[in-house]
Amino acid sequence: MTAATSRLKYAIASFLVVLLAAGAVALLFTLRHAQDARSTWFLALALAAGAGLLAAALMWRALTHLQQPLYSLIRSAERIGQGDYSRPVEVQRREVVGELQQALERLRGHLRQSTINKSYLHSLLNSMTDAVFLTSPDGVIKVANAASCKLLGFSEEELLNRSILAVLDERERTDFDLQQAAHETRETLVRTRSGQTIPVSFTGSRIDSDDPQFQGNIFVARNITDRKRAERRIRYLARYDALTKVPNRMQFHHVLQQTIARALRSGRVVAVLYLDMDRFKEVNDTFGHGAGDRVLEVLAERLTRAVPRETVVGRLAGDEFALFVDALPADADNRGPIAQLARALLTEVSRPFQLNQHEIFLTASVGIAFCPRDAENVIDLIRNADAAMYYSKQNGGNTFAFYSPEMNAAAVERLMLKSKLRRALERDELEIRYQPKVDLRTGRVSGAEALLRWRLPGHGDIPPSQFIPLAEETNLILDIGEWVLNRVCLDYRQMQAQGGDPGRISLNLSLKQLRQASFILRCRSVFRRHHVSPTAFELEITETTLMADPPRTVRLLDELYAMGLHLSIDDFGTGYSSLSALQQFPIGTLKIDPSFVRDATDDAGDATIVRTIIEMGRSLGMEVIAEGVESQAQLQFLRIHGCHYGQGRLFGEASTVGELLALLAKQVSGAEAPFVHLLRDDAAASRSA
Ligand code: C2E
Ligand code: MG
Ligand code: MG
Repeated sequence: MTAATSRLKYAIASFLVVLLAAGAVALLFTLRHAQDARSTWFLALALAAGAGLLAAALMWRALTHLQQPLYSLIRSAERIGQGDYSRPVEVQRREVVGELQQALERLRGHLRQSTINKSYLHSLLNSMTDAVFLTSPDGVIKVANAASCKLLGFSEEELLNRSILAVLDERERTDFDLQQAAHETRETLVRTRSGQTIPVSFTGSRIDSDDPQFQGNIFVARNITDRKRAERRIRYLARYDALTKVPNRMQFHHVLQQTIARALRSGRVVAVLYLDMDRFKEVNDTFGHGAGDRVLEVLAERLTRAVPRETVVGRLAGDEFALFVDALPADADNRGPIAQLARALLTEVSRPFQLNQHEIFLTASVGIAFCPRDAENVIDLIRNADAAMYYSKQNGGNTFAFYSPEMNAAAVERLMLKSKLRRALERDELEIRYQPKVDLRTGRVSGAEALLRWRLPGHGDIPPSQFIPLAEETNLILDIGEWVLNRVCLDYRQMQAQGGDPGRISLNLSLKQLRQASFILRCRSVFRRHHVSPTAFELEITETTLMADPPRTVRLLDELYAMGLHLSIDDFGTGYSSLSALQQFPIGTLKIDPSFVRDATDDAGDATIVRTIIEMGRSLGMEVIAEGVESQAQLQFLRIHGCHYGQGRLFGEASTVGELLALLAKQVSGAEAPFVHLLRDDAAASRSA
């Protein structure tokens, strides 16, 4: 029904009431002049009653129709008052009140769109993952969102009306300035209900409003536990060695630097011990890097346990560790206690390491330097301890040495040698010497080993043990190796031309050479160029080289063997290979390392090793050569145990081509074998024994 029609209906009804009332008045007026007064009274009364009833009905209807929309109106107004601008009420009536209510609903809709009300603000804050606190200007919490309750473990009621300071950890409260905090982002700690502290990024902003009741601050706290953990991890990784969990070089330097500064101020002494494993590379090459890593882990644990708690142990590189002892007295000779510590470390290293069912024995070399005596800064102190370590290594390892200035000179010389070695080839400073290999049954020379010599003008002879590692470090060994092969072929041709039969000449091969992709091609072309048969030569390969990459080495050696070359294992017994592993290679000869031969006559352990190697070689159909035969007693021992060949000073040092030719000439002329007299003496000695 429209407002106009309802208004028309009310007008007609009102007109009817007026009409009925007017009829009743007219009847009463005519009553005075009427004859039938009773019926007229009756009619007038009826008309008046009709008008009254109609008027009452009209009023009732007007009242009831007005009440409902009025209540609706009141409810709408109340909701707007409460700030509830949601769900508009459906307006049914379109009368004046209805229109008023409709206008109110429109107002509410408009407010909903244009005003952020409290519940919206609430749902907004509660859907945030960061903790949000709205405070008064003096920092009293007025609003705390759901995330803040979750972070701190308090209910909203518990947080409200407390100071924002109360959520911070006690340590953070002292220098908390509310005014400053309301303008910046800082990292701080909050304290939870259970007493746990959580790192947060804490951002404050001022709420500027003209209305004083809205003024205050808003603080947002973001939990940064994960980021802090990642930061700690990164810091840890940057300073600690991931494998051994001890400080790395950088951290070790850093801590040592601070310690030195303290020691210099207080007049105390610091001792640095530098430790390097002996022949550690062989562990890696033989058992793989995983096993090498395991050894280093165990070693770091052992070293850490062997030193006093406050001593810092660091891993400076691969198998190099260092540690320092702090606050030693300046007026005492500290060498005694430090030597004792060094011995304890060497003992720890020498305990067997368990590696994939193998028990392996390792040693280390230690160098020691003191601050301030040997150096007053980290770099020099470590360098000097390193030089002393190198000195220990040169002395055969498994020992320690205190730094002295000459040692550094040795390190400098090593560097100089490296640069001079580069020119050694061009300047023709390298030479080959031949050490005869002797058949211990006949005393005849059955071949010779080609040994490299470096005659450095002004320095004398430099032994291969010193320059071969340098040549390997610099890859010069590839050029040097090729030079040796050419030189040996030339010498061989010369010996043949002069009527000597040198037997088989052996050459030492380094791992780097064998790894060279073109090695086999190069070998073949050298032999072809010099018109010599590969069958006249033997390649000596160390156990370590063999085990570096067995599948690849097997392929390479099979090819070399197919060419006609003879192959032997040099320094046998010093590596870690097992016999079954060696059987896969086409090896014809085992060379027993001089270190076992040297003591075989005095040391029961070495005697067993030598005997076992001889038996093992023979049972596999291999030739066995004992190296480093120096005495008659050794020769006798070897012969008794069935060793067929020997090499060593007893038969002569490595000699020139001319000297070797002279030896060979004796054999060819049909006279007695060159060393048969030694066998006779040997026989006499054994008879007299
Ligand atoms: P190696 O192949 O085991 O050579 C045997 C070493 O024992 C030689 O040392 C030899 O001079 C030494 N020797 C000879 N007789 C005796 C003795 O009676 N007692 C003792 N204790 N030792 C004796 P050298 O000549 O100093 O060579 C050392 C190492 O240098 C060689 O050990 C070999 O591994 C390497 N080397 C030598 N020449 C070459 C080369 O041309 N190329 C490569 N890659 N390495 C070489
Ligand atoms: Mg050799
Ligand atoms: Mg050898």
